[in-house]
Amino acid sequence: MIRWEDLRPLLEEFYQREFPDHVKEEPWKVAIGCILSQRTRDEVTDAAYRRLLSRYPTLEDLASADPSEVEKLIYPVGFYRQKARRIVEAARYMLENGVKPSLEELLKIPGIGRKCANIVLAYGFGVPAIPVDTHVERVSKRLGIADPKDSPQRVEEKLRNLIPREMWIIVNHALVRFGREICRPVSPRCEICPLREICPSSRVKGSSHP
Ligand code: SF4
Repeated sequence: MIRWEDLRPLLEEFYQREFPDHVKEEPWKVAIGCILSQRTRDEVTDAAYRRLLSRYPTLEDLASADPSEVEKLIYPVGFYRQKARRIVEAARYMLENGVKPSLEELLKIPGIGRKCANIVLAYGFGVPAIPVDTHVERVSKRLGIADPKDSPQRVEEKLRNLIPREMWIIVNHALVRFGREICRPVSPRCEICPLREICPSSRVKGSSHP
C-alpha cells in the first residue's frame, strides 16, 4: 500500500506544470470548460473554449446564445451537438441560480456530473476537492490506492482518506500530468517512474497492470 509520504513528492513535482486555459478561470467558466473537455484533448478543448468565450464573454451572453451557433464555435470537440445544448442550458441555470461552492448545488447544473462539480470546486473556487477522471482513476488503481473494480466515487473516497485535506487541491492536476507523461494508459514508463520500487503494478518488477 502506497503511503502518503511516498506519494507526496510525486504530487508536488507534477503539480509544478502548466495548467490548460479552461481550468484557470472563474467558476462558471470552469464549469463550461469541463463540459467542453469531456472526451476531448486539452488542446482541442482550449481552442474551442477560446472561440466560445470570445464570442460570448459573459454568462448573460452565453445564456442567450443559439445552440446551433455554439455548435459551430466548439466544433470539433467530441459530441459537440449535445455539448452545445448542455452549455447553453448550464449557462441559463447558472445565470438564474448562481454558482455556489457546494458539491450538492453544483450537481444541479445541467451537464455537470461529480467529476466536473469537483473540478469547479477545486479550480474555480479553490475549495479542497479531488476530481477523479480517467487518469486519476487508472493511476490510483495501479498504485494500489484503489481496487480494480472501484467506481470513480470510491476512488475519490480512498484518495480523500489517504491524502491530507489541505493537499487535495493538487491531486487532480498532478495525477493527470503523471498519468499522461509516465503512468500512461498503454506502455507505462515504469523504468523512469519514481514509484517503481513500491508500486504493486510496476513492470520493472514484472507485475501486471489493471
Ligand atoms: S511503476 Fe509503472 S504502473 Fe506503477 S505508477 Fe509507476 S508508471 Fe505507473
